[in-house]
Formats: sequence, structure tokens, C-alpha cells
Amino acid sequence: MEHFTTVVPGTRVRLDEIDPDFHEGLKKRDEVVKERTDAAREEMRELQSRLYAEGRQSLLIVLQAPDTGGKDGTIRHTFRGLNPSGCRVASFKVPTTEELAHDFLWRIHQQTPRRGEIVIFNRSHYEDVLVVRVHELVPEAVWRRRYNQINEFEELLADCGTRVLKLFLCISKEEQRERLQARLDNPEKHWKFSPGDLSERARWDDYMAAYEEALTECSTEVAPWQIIPANRKWYRNMIVAEIVAATLREMAPVYPEVDFDPGAIVIE
Ligand code: AMP
Ligand code: MG
Repeated sequence: MEHFTTVVPGTRVRLDEIDPDFHEGLKKRDEVVKERTDAAREEMRELQSRLYAEGRQSLLIVLQAPDTGGKDGTIRHTFRGLNPSGCRVASFKVPTTEELAHDFLWRIHQQTPRRGEIVIFNRSHYEDVLVVRVHELVPEAVWRRRYNQINEFEELLADCGTRVLKLFLCISKEEQRERLQARLDNPEKHWKFSPGDLSERARWDDYMAAYEEALTECSTEVAPWQIIPANRKWYRNMIVAEIVAATLREMAPVYPEVDFDPGAIVIE
């Protein structure tokens, strides 16, 4: 049974073939869900400690999702156990005047992880082929060239020791309706609602087309997209933790060798 979909470079993504509700037939309260989630988080913790100590490789996690897709919740749940010294979130909002005065990757490159660090992108350079395309903020000839520019940028990062893990949280339009409604129903969530969310929702199909093309064009050998079924938050959290743990396992960070003999040192 497939838990998530890794986009194979060169294949065309069809989001209507993805089931955002997929959950392996598990239930939220199943013991195995807690076990798998806890095990993945524990492994993340252990491997992050090695990554930080090793100080040679870094991990960049790019999170993209439709509005209400669960980027904030995923970050809160999945990464809370990590050591904050070696882990950071970078959120990308509407570009400032200063940012707009540069190329679209300028603000992104400033936030990429240093060696030993894990950085989570809450939105990313992909906004420049998503919202920018849907709202026609630049001509098509400009955003179209960005697919290749993004691929080359990510290849540069990979060549220099940064693993690029890209996660698309896939929710259904109906699930978005429920989550927007929940934001209206709960006074503590009002702040998360903006009337503009409704005009974005009206462009759902345009966004899906933009996502499909971005996921297709920007899945490369070094940085393929992963599509996460995200209608069920507990399932999404479990799968994201498992993917991050598996990625860190592949990176195989090791504690550095020391150049002294600890047994020969006497502390007075
Ligand atoms: P939020 O993540 O809900 O705080 O909202 C951030 C907003 O910034 C979203 O509406 C994004 O679409 C918008 N945004 C992020 N990056 C860009 C960009 N490069 N160009 C235009 N809008 C952007
Ligand atoms: Mg928002």
C-alpha cells in the first residue's frame, strides 16, 4: 500500500488521481498510529542531533499546500520535538518592495539552511509559479522560465550538501470548505480567516492546474515532490514525520571523530 506519492521525474502529475482522504484504512485512535508517529519523531530527534553535530549536510523542507491545507499544523506537530538550535522555520509572505526589487530567488536563498541545520519553508519560491501565475502578477513568459530556474537553484543546493525535501499537502475542495467554516465558527480561529480566502477558493481549479504543472516540471532526481494525502490531520502528521525520518536516515549523519583520546584526559 502506498503511503504517499513520490513524483517520478518526467511523469505528468494528475491531482484528480490523488485521494486526499487516503489513510491506509487506519483510525485516528489506533495504537499503531501512535506507535508509528512516536517512532518517527524519536528517530527524527536522534538523527537531528547527529546532523547538527556532524555539521556537514543540511536539510531543507519545502511545505506547500492550498489555503487551510495544514502547513502551520504540520510544522507545529511534526517538528516540536527537535532541538531549536538546529531547526528554524522561514515563512514567505507577499514580497516586500525590497524583495520585489531583486530576482525571485533572492529572498529564498538567504533563508536556506547552513550546514548542520534543518530549515522548514512555510511557502517558498513555488509561490512564484503558483499565486503569481494565478493572479497574473508577471507575464507567462516570465513565470514559465522559472521552472527551469528553480530546478537549477535546487540542484545547486543539492550539489552543496543540502537535501531538498518538497512536500505538497493535498486536501480536497470540500475539506477546505469545512476548515474555512471552522475558522468562522471558532472565535479563536477568526484571525486565521481573511475574506480574501474566499476569492482564492473561487480560483481553486486555477490553483490545481498551477500545482499540477509545478509538481510535474519541478520534480527532478535530486528534488522530487512528495504528495501527501492531507484531509486527515493525524494521518498527514504521521506520514510527514515518517518521510522526514526516512530522509534523515538516508542522509546518514554521523557524530564527528575527535582528534584527542577522551580516555587519556584527566579533569582535575
Ligand atoms: P499566509 O501564509 O496565510 O500568512 O499568507 C501569505 C500570503 O503571501 C499568501 O496569500 C501567499 O499567496 C502570499 N505570497 C507568498 N509568496 C508570494 C509571492 N512570491 N508573490 C505573491 N504573493 C505571495
Ligand atoms: Mg492564509
